[in-house]
Amino acid sequence: MSSQIAVRFSRVCKYYPTDHNKGMYAALDKISFTVPRGAFVFIQGPSGAGKSTLSRIIYGDLKPTEGKAIICGTDISSLRHGALAKFRQRIGIVHQDFLLIDQKSTLENVALALVFKGFRYHEAIDRAEDMIIRVGLEDQIDRDVIELSGGEKQRVAVARALVVEPEIIVSDEPTANLDPELSDEIFSYLQVANERGATVVVSTHDESRVASSGKFIVTLKNGKIADCSDELVAGE
Ligand code: ADP
Ligand code: MG
Repeated sequence: MSSQIAVRFSRVCKYYPTDHNKGMYAALDKISFTVPRGAFVFIQGPSGAGKSTLSRIIYGDLKPTEGKAIICGTDISSLRHGALAKFRQRIGIVHQDFLLIDQKSTLENVALALVFKGFRYHEAIDRAEDMIIRVGLEDQIDRDVIELSGGEKQRVAVARALVVEPEIIVSDEPTANLDPELSDEIFSYLQVANERGATVVVSTHDESRVASSGKFIVTLKNGKIADCSDELVAGE
């Protein structure tokens, strides 16, 4: 049963200390929803709604202050350092701020993701080359990432996240700084990964894209769920 659920949030709260540590601010306030395996879900809401906080909990970068977040059958609150690092290898992350290694080439950045996952060097290089071709970066394959444009860097980030074929892909505003054509392209890669079986959770404040997508949607406002597709409502 639980294996059919990729993400389950049960009354998840995340509090941050307020300005002068006088109280706590609820960035997420009793959030409950479930994401079936293989779904494509948009998390939408205005700036400050809690999208990044929610994304960080899914990829194990933050733990809930209260409530439970079960990701791929694992309660992330129960994980200690080593286990958490291992868990995070199962999640593909497409960050808006890249987190690429500037002084290494496109090929090295993508291949390293595979090496960290335990692939042998030659296998990693072969798979990385295929993925780089799929995102149209073959001409940039040997260039250091620092020399690439913002859009090219974002494609390297996508290639690096997808090459390991993660169970879940979490993407926090992947197209925030990109022009419309490149945004379409990035979404098409996420779509292909979803068609190949990955569960995809993407946060965005681009409401027009979400509305026309036909995908499942969670709408956050002030840390609460303002609206949610029926398919994602948590059975409690
Ligand atoms: P979004 O991604 O939708 O813009 P965030 O999850 O980044 O929203 O933030 C939700 C709320 O939590 C905001 O009011 C933000 O100021 C606050 N917040 C986020 N991160 C921190 C932090 N590290 N410390 C204190 N407050 C934070
Ligand atoms: Mg954010």
